[in-house]
Amino acid sequence: MIDRQARILVTGHRGLVGSAVVRHLQSLGCSQILTATRQEVDLRDPRTVENWFAERRPAYVFHVAGTVGGIWANSTRPVDFLHDNLLMQAVVLRAAWQSGVQKLLYLGSSCIYPRDCPQPIREEYLLTGPLEKTNECYALAKIAGVKACDAYRQQYGCRFISAMPTNLYGPNDNFHPDGSHVIPGLLRRFHEVKLAGQPTLTVWGTGTPRREFLHVDDLAVACVFLMGKYDEAGPINVGTGEDITIHALAELVRDVVHPSAELVFDPSKPDGTPRKLLDVSRLHGLGWHHRIPLEVGLQQAYHWYLEHPAGRRMSVAD
Ligand code: GDP
Repeated sequence: MIDRQARILVTGHRGLVGSAVVRHLQSLGCSQILTATRQEVDLRDPRTVENWFAERRPAYVFHVAGTVGGIWANSTRPVDFLHDNLLMQAVVLRAAWQSGVQKLLYLGSSCIYPRDCPQPIREEYLLTGPLEKTNECYALAKIAGVKACDAYRQQYGCRFISAMPTNLYGPNDNFHPDGSHVIPGLLRRFHEVKLAGQPTLTVWGTGTPRREFLHVDDLAVACVFLMGKYDEAGPINVGTGEDITIHALAELVRDVVHPSAELVFDPSKPDGTPRKLLDVSRLHGLGWHHRIPLEVGLQQAYHWYLEHPAGRRMSVAD
């Protein structure tokens, strides 16, 4: 376990992951959780970040801020995903090293792995083949972050670890119609179709790709668990070890939001990688398992959406 009295920085605390990590740390009784809004500290700006670290002296850092988005945002705005993520991680990791942070967790993504690698995806498949084109720039930035953590560990002995989560969903998700990932995208669109009294729900692509989904509250528990228990180079996968087709997912979301409607598929939208299932045996071997079943998590996510009309983030990418 990490020291509850320590100063703990969570970057991106307003986002899907950062807000979940803060909630979990609070529930554990951590008393000195440090956060900063984008207006207070631009994580891409070295001087601001170095000064901030020198002043606040965090002992632990969860670097979970990132410019993230779904398949459409990634395939149409690759520069934003490459540029912002590369800068943020370069600046944060360097400031963490310079200020003597005890331990840092860097959050990557399952899209770092080659498009056509064997399934489920083991950590050692990293850099063994070409990447999926729809999110190549995001993946390249995230791979650079994993390698940067390893390099700081090798050259300076920093205890920097890298966790690779599967597709995430939950409170504080981004519900932008084009920028979002599939679960918030479907929740919002199906809800609007229901309000409009229409009978058909459109799902992007063919419905055949398979994806694995993890509730962000489970991820937050895993991140804190890893911060306490894990200290090695290279990525460690964080997922459920179970995947479903987008068609089956869309049926589950329909059952939650608008059960009487019919699904139609729009093959003009990209499918992306055919399958992305993480091998989580290393994490399971350490003693961590997810808790929230997808059906339960989807119900919760829809209720959160209904209850937070003002709090829904709707940016193209953030
Ligand atoms: P990916 O895992 O990087 O491909 O990210 P996404 O969550 O954006 O997409 C996952 C899959 O869901 C892809 O095959 C999409 O084509 C499919 N999908 C179906 N409907 C939607 C939607 O409304 N929004 C998004 N983002 N994806 C959708």
